[in-house]
Amino acid sequence: AKRRGGATRWACFDDLMGGDDGEPSLEDDLRTAVAGGQLRLLYQPIVGLPDGELIGVEALVRWEHPRRGTIAPDVFIPLAERIGVIGELGLWVLREACTSAQRWPGLQVNVNVSPCQLDEDRFSTDVRAIVRATGMDPGLLVLEVTESALIAEEVPRAHLQILSDEGIRIALDDFGTGYSSLRYLTQLPIDTLKIDRGFVASLDGTAEGAAVAQAVLRLSRVLGLDTVAEGVETAAQARELTLLGGTKAQGFHFARPQPAEQISELVTAALG
Ligand code: C2E
Ligand code: CA
Ligand code: CA
Ligand code: CA
Repeated sequence: AKRRGGATRWACFDDLMGGDDGEPSLEDDLRTAVAGGQLRLLYQPIVGLPDGELIGVEALVRWEHPRRGTIAPDVFIPLAERIGVIGELGLWVLREACTSAQRWPGLQVNVNVSPCQLDEDRFSTDVRAIVRATGMDPGLLVLEVTESALIAEEVPRAHLQILSDEGIRIALDDFGTGYSSLRYLTQLPIDTLKIDRGFVASLDGTAEGAAVAQAVLRLSRVLGLDTVAEGVETAAQARELTLLGGTKAQGFHFARPQPAEQISELVTAALG
């Protein structure tokens, strides 16, 4: 399962890596964690602007390591990609999120997908099976893919098309940071742009910061795309986004990532 190409390619599973020194490494621990029990999902609310009403949640995975405590995904997702367990991890996340979502009628659920998952032949088949098995409404499922050199390639593209035809929505994550190619926006079945928090952070009152965010919002309107502004930390940023035409946001200003039970409480409160 060696990736085609070389070091310039995405760092997916590479069976030439290796070396076993006999010590249980973080890699070994991660294999154990994925095999059962140590992963946990938090859900961060996605809200409407300007009112802050709950529209959906993004599932964010955590690793509760028995000795090291909670480990952040920025640390173990790249590791999972390298040692070839991201496929299994990603499907666990999807199954768990779709299962929890059955308690949240009408709520949109966003799940992150690694480029390495998109490169597996089985990906769309596995996703459809989980959607059916859990009773997930495909129209409420949003798969977040990052801009990478990979997503425009044949296999990832075919998966995105199949899933999109199924009614599942696709969001381009961290928009504006990666191998941004505006071509993706018209060639791939993308529904939503998630505006990277770097742009949101630049909404500090300077004209330049606002200009970039405004350009992205305008572009998405022209292309008929939905947008979610990420990493909104202040009321001033939320206000500025609203003025620029933003309609959805996510960030600590509104809510932190939280366990499923707390989302259930928010849903109940919103219904009541
Ligand atoms: P991301 O997809 O861009 O997720 C948003 C990250 O920003 C989350 O970090 C979230 O906690 C954080 N965040 C949210 N609001 C704010 C804010 O107002 N200010 C700041 N400074 N940060 C905010 P987290 O949970 O540590 O996740 C980090 C990254 O790990 C994610 O970035 C995503 O790329 C990856 N990740 C998380 N869960 C999964 C997963 O299930 N699968 C895959 N493939 N990747 C995942
Ligand atoms: Ca070892
Ligand atoms: Ca994301
Ligand atoms: Ca993001």
